[in-house]
Amino acid sequence: MEEINSLSFIELEKVVKNLSENSFRAKQLFNWFHEKLVYDYDKMTNLSLSLRNKLKEKYPLYELYIVQKLVSNIDGTKKYLFKLQDGNIIESVLMKYKHGASVCISTQVGCRMGCKFCASTIDGLVRNLTPAEMLGQVYSIINDTNEKVSNIVMMGTGEPLENYENMLKFLELINNEQGQNIGIRHITISTCGIAPKILELADLNFGLTLAISLHATTNDKRCKIMPITNKYSLEDILDAVKIYITKTNRRVTFEYGLILGKNDSQEDAKELVTLLKGLNCHVNLIPINTIDEKDYKASSTKNIAEFAKILNAQNIQTTIRRKLGEDIDAACGQLRRRFVNL
Ligand code: SAH
Repeated sequence: MEEINSLSFIELEKVVKNLSENSFRAKQLFNWFHEKLVYDYDKMTNLSLSLRNKLKEKYPLYELYIVQKLVSNIDGTKKYLFKLQDGNIIESVLMKYKHGASVCISTQVGCRMGCKFCASTIDGLVRNLTPAEMLGQVYSIINDTNEKVSNIVMMGTGEPLENYENMLKFLELINNEQGQNIGIRHITISTCGIAPKILELADLNFGLTLAISLHATTNDKRCKIMPITNKYSLEDILDAVKIYITKTNRRVTFEYGLILGKNDSQEDAKELVTLLKGLNCHVNLIPINTIDEKDYKASSTKNIAEFAKILNAQNIQTTIRRKLGEDIDAACGQLRRRFVNL
């Protein structure tokens, strides 16, 4: 049975109808779930007691349980470990920027993409997250902090384009005017490059921000760190991205994690220029976080600065990702892994 708070408004109307209730109840329920963020039917005081009891029995609600929360003393970044109903653990992060608060959510438990520098993928994929579980990360953080969330990034554990249908439902619900109403332009999806899904997204023409985890400039080098390249080559990915840009008229972000001695030379920077020249894009250079299990080290500050200089000199807009929450030391994907291995 699907969770009731994963349903679209139209689906919710059907549920209400099947319970022989007036259709305006759907609006009330939607409002409790997605605007007021309430998980306890007994608090939904404008519903009749009999309806509340029916719902409790047929559609139990589950609020993500906060197992652990780490707060940075430097910048206020908060990292959350949540327990799902089936006991699986996922992580999410709240980051504060000048333009508002941003939540980074996970889209899967684990990941099967196998990127060599990433901790999320070491135990493979466990399962996809449901729309309610993706929303639950944002809602629990709002309930915990009373913070207004203005941006969402799908950059936590998992590959969002491998959980495509649920991701689309999440977008519909988080963007809904009767819910949190987070603008689609304030939502970023990060992918390792599932080319056919990038094309499907292009056809939907949503206006969200697409981020591509590139990390290397030739298929040979990329295969060694990102096995997905065996399935979709750099050419496949870049062709899909070009179509995405043409159809949506949106600027695409390329993420490039700099790994010492692997992809951070001046030669690499020049190759990146050749690949991206003329594209409506932005490059985000990420000093890679070292993970315990793997032998990949962060590039040096000097190499990173040189790399950025070469790109900027060729008019490829480049930023170096600011590290948030360094004192709570929980690099991409590592928080969950450390916890699960305790
Ligand atoms: N599967 C999606 C989203 C999750 S990864 C993707 O591949 O884009 C989100 C971002 O974190 C990606 O750019 C990924 O390459 C990056 N990342 C993974 N491991 C990292 C590490 N050890 N240090 C820095 N960034 C990392």
